[in-house]
Amino acid sequence: MRAVTSDPDQLRHDIAVPHQPNYGRAETETIEIGGPDIVASRIALGTWAIGGWMWGGSDTRSAFRTIQAAIDHGVNIIDTAPVYGFGLAEEIVGRALAPNGRRKRILIATKCGLEWQGNKLRRNASPDRIREEIEESLKRLRTDYIDIYLLHWPDAVVPIEETAGAFAKLLKEGKIRAIGVSNLDRAQTERFSQIAPVLTTQPPYNLFERDIETDLLPYAKEAGLVILAYSALCRGLLSGRMSSETRFEGDDLRRIDPKFQQPRFNQYLAAVSALDGFARANFGKSVLALALRWILDQGPTIALWGARRPEQLGAIAEVTGWSLDKPAMHEIDRILRDTITSPVGPEFMAPPPSAAERLVA
Ligand code: NAP
Repeated sequence: MRAVTSDPDQLRHDIAVPHQPNYGRAETETIEIGGPDIVASRIALGTWAIGGWMWGGSDTRSAFRTIQAAIDHGVNIIDTAPVYGFGLAEEIVGRALAPNGRRKRILIATKCGLEWQGNKLRRNASPDRIREEIEESLKRLRTDYIDIYLLHWPDAVVPIEETAGAFAKLLKEGKIRAIGVSNLDRAQTERFSQIAPVLTTQPPYNLFERDIETDLLPYAKEAGLVILAYSALCRGLLSGRMSSETRFEGDDLRRIDPKFQQPRFNQYLAAVSALDGFARANFGKSVLALALRWILDQGPTIALWGARRPEQLGAIAEVTGWSLDKPAMHEIDRILRDTITSPVGPEFMAPPPSAAERLVA
């Protein structure tokens, strides 16, 4: 794998690689976000790994091919963020979408509310920071509007109403087409919505991480929000490609993710294996397809599928055209209960608090 690069010359060289269109266009299910003006495929491409940071590095050439593959498969929404590779993922997305008027056909979801020095991160959802961030994102993404702009993480120091006010201004100015929030609970989302119209929310949601089912998911259904479910494959665990021998390199977050540490890792692997057997016996599908289908069958959801190699998206067609009924859902829950005896959530991913909050603490 090549090292992370933000070098513009390297990026320019990489985008010049001729595209080989080997992928057939598959029909994907779609969902409206706030009405017919924004219609998204129910599978989105996630680009955190493409940015390289916390994923052991990035290969830009492979990243461009992955974006191309996603589009060829009918994906029309790409999720990114300034912090993914500290600008690199947005640069790659911008360059990949620039040619042939493609930008107009693909929805970009990006975020704000974090700042960094070197690779040290902290929260900052102040209106000033948001104003700065959107300008930087627009430049990197080579566009003059963002389709869905999300607050990445709540900032305990800046009142949510102030942050929401900054979003409302951007909406009015036409710099963003729709507003979303990420990692906010129901009460925070309701407060935000008093000031600016929230159309989507982006929480962690996959077969192993289901906290939203108690509160946020019912609220989203009730309020008409679309859920952009992140870590849909639980950071690759649900791909079915991992074993107890799997090792991660460099700064790969799975080296510190508690699910990937023994003896717990084996519990999750046992669950994946049992789910795979169930999916194959009953539906002729892999566990990866089951994991994504399961998210789509929970309500108004889009599954964010993180990928950085084109072949990782090869199974997209397997996800559509079928669904899980109640008995299947119950059997899945039974498998999870029987195999995972010490479950753990994704809390390790939360970024440090803002500078001001640290001063207060
Ligand atoms: P994910 O989608 O659960 O997993 C992504 C990883 O799974 C890939 O990088 C790849 O790992 C592996 N994978 C994917 N397809 C595979 C296949 N066919 N076979 C084998 N392995 C496969 O995790 P995620 O990246 O955390 O979440 C998805 C997206 O959600 C992100 O990219 C980002 O856009 C968004 N997200 C948002 C937040 C937030 O705070 N708002 C947080 C996390 C993620 P390898 O390349 O290492 O094999």
